[in-house]
Amino acid sequence: MRKRTVYPILPLLALLWLGLSFPLSAQPLFDVHLHYNAREAEVLGSEQLIAILDQHRVSRAVVIGQPGELAMTLHRHAPDRIVPFLGIYRDLRDKIAWPLDESLPARVEASLKQGHWRGLGELHIFANNRNRLVFHQLLKLAEQYQLVVMIHGDAAVIDTIYEVSPGLKVIWAHAGAYPYPSLLKDYLSRYPELYIDLSMRNERIAPEGRLTEDWYELFMEHPDRILLGMDTFSLNRWQGYGTWAAETRHWLAQLPDDIAAMLAWENAEGLFAHPKTKS
Ligand SMILES: [Zn+2]
Repeated sequence: MRKRTVYPILPLLALLWLGLSFPLSAQPLFDVHLHYNAREAEVLGSEQLIAILDQHRVSRAVVIGQPGELAMTLHRHAPDRIVPFLGIYRDLRDKIAWPLDESLPARVEASLKQGHWRGLGELHIFANNRNRLVFHQLLKLAEQYQLVVMIHGDAAVIDTIYEVSPGLKVIWAHAGAYPYPSLLKDYLSRYPELYIDLSMRNERIAPEGRLTEDWYELFMEHPDRILLGMDTFSLNRWQGYGTWAAETRHWLAQLPDDIAAMLAWENAEGLFAHPKTKS
């Protein structure tokens, strides 16, 4: 007889739990760092990929293809959801060798002429290659085609970009090679067109789930130029999407609601608001 009195409590607890967790999971995300590689495309077609985004309430996403055309294929499948970035790597060797590939700028320009690309990258580049002609030529193309450039690199690369192309919008992937909030504050103050992507940095930002004070301060000081991403560089990352998204939403919920909304989707919506019109 006693056991029966327990039953009404269970649905009540479930409701309470849902009520508490709903605001966290309800926050839509704009993911600015998705990779879609040929290897993953064999398993995840366009439909399945969009289903993953739906399942985790990802309203829009930047997608980088390898080969580049994969992102455009996805974009054509879901033009309102997918922001296509032109990935320049044909295979893993290109990831290292591209700054020395003198044929690259012409290939990039040919692709840019064919589609409505919104960005270029992710480009992996470090200080030793920052003055390569090929890199500077790509920056000029990005300027000409009004593209946002995603850089995976160190601080010296960011300085060089703004010497070459002062007006360029840049997303600094993973909050840079040395993701210290004090350094990021300096760079955000120095370069008004620079955005910070926090993909792969949950453990630093919120060790054991708790947002640290220095990251909190950075977000409060520059709430308009911080972006989120899950960096799906492998099938494993795609399959674990829900885990990374939940981790991210968990520390987002420790910020004031308006700031959390800016990081979660408003900033990226602003950055990718108007489709580029081809001249
Ligand atoms: Zn990446």
